[in-house]
Amino acid sequence: MSDSLNSFVIAQEQLKMAVDKLHLNASVYELLKEPKRSLSVLIPVRMDDGSTRVFSGYRAQHNDALGPAKGGVRFHQDVSMDEVKALAMWMTFKCAVVGIPYGGAKGGVIVNPEELSAAELERLSRAYIQAIAPLIGPEKDIPAPDVNTNPQIMSWMMDEFSMIKQYNSFGVITGKPLIIGGSLGRTQATAQGVVFVIEDLVKKLNINLEGVSVVIQGFGNVGGYTAKILYDKKAKIIGISDVKGGIYNPRGLNPYKVQEHATETGSVVNYRGAKTITNAELLELECDILIPAALENQITDKNAHNIKARYVVEAANGPTTPEADKILEQKGILVVPDILANAGGVTVSYFEWVQNNMGYYWSVEEVNEKLGNIMSQAFHGVYDLYKSRKDVNMRVAAYMLAVKRVAEGMEVRGWISAPHQTKEATRISAR
Ligand code: NAD
Repeated sequence: MSDSLNSFVIAQEQLKMAVDKLHLNASVYELLKEPKRSLSVLIPVRMDDGSTRVFSGYRAQHNDALGPAKGGVRFHQDVSMDEVKALAMWMTFKCAVVGIPYGGAKGGVIVNPEELSAAELERLSRAYIQAIAPLIGPEKDIPAPDVNTNPQIMSWMMDEFSMIKQYNSFGVITGKPLIIGGSLGRTQATAQGVVFVIEDLVKKLNINLEGVSVVIQGFGNVGGYTAKILYDKKAKIIGISDVKGGIYNPRGLNPYKVQEHATETGSVVNYRGAKTITNAELLELECDILIPAALENQITDKNAHNIKARYVVEAANGPTTPEADKILEQKGILVVPDILANAGGVTVSYFEWVQNNMGYYWSVEEVNEKLGNIMSQAFHGVYDLYKSRKDVNMRVAAYMLAVKRVAEGMEVRGWISAPHQTKEATRISAR
């Protein structure tokens, strides 16, 4: 893979930009440019036919200066250590930008889960937890769902860890089913957070959300709920896609009906009353808001010139490459960065962990109210910094706020030598 599409190289570049803008000591970059700890494991799994398949898995803990490391587990055929390291770094800054007391981590297994039976998937999920058990725990590192993992998988993982420890450890994993300590509002939390951010954005821009045209790439947990919540708020969803392709109707799509079709047929494509298009065409549709909600590197220097959206709100992690960022900026397209836009998931994961620790559970209204407050505060912090300076976009502003907080944590813990702060960094923290 070329460096321009290597998510870890991209994450390091984004970090470097923030460190430079903040004029922080070189030691900050040195300590944050690689994960603090990473583990690569081989996972033997007994298949239904009696054979054994050996899977490769990873867990990276990027930084835990501000709290236990936190991040999802991805099951995908393209998982690599570099991808996991990038996602772990983004988690550190995501948690810092919304101000929740966590560091960043991520995990993954190279597997196409569609090829496994339910029983094989359970054995793989349990075996992965056995392999990374020494690294994780409610006070150390707390996994959660990501691409192709869900509450059932979180349940098997929590159960396996509890078996190893010989006591119930609900707080070791978030995104669990409600019956075993999940939080109300967690399943749709990332999407709900994306929508809170969009609501704050349109308010700032004096635009009415009603009738705003939206295109969403990805119709899984994040894309699917984002489409439904925006539809309920009367935004016009004109394009939706999944891994098999996209659908388009300029008059608007009903995502609930699209969901029924996708559940029946396995994809959104061939939905009646819409034109079937490719994912590449979908990204280039004319619309107000484009929401990439699938995977990394979807908007690159190859297609950024053709993006016609006015705003890009990154629900996925790392959907825009740095070259594409520059092109979008030149075209006047505002990008709300992933570490801000999709932080709702980890925020409600944090609420789940707090509730597990207390053994006392909140109503969905309470969860959403707390989520709304956190997302709004983070949005305004980033937006105000972006607006008050002429030399940064929203991504760099978000990184500056986040890196500054993590650096401060590392400094007071004695991990890096003082003084690391310059006037510039101090000025931002005083805002
Ligand atoms: P998911 O597995 O539920 O859904 C992924 C969707 O993307 C599916 O519809 C799939 O068909 C589609 N897709 C996969 N490859 C594609 C491709 N090449 N082109 C177009 N579509 C493709 O995953 P998810 O949990 O919704 O995660 C989506 C993104 O959001 C990822 O970047 C993930 O890291 C990020 N994210 C997820 C959460 C969360 O709470 N689940 C939180 C923060 C960020």
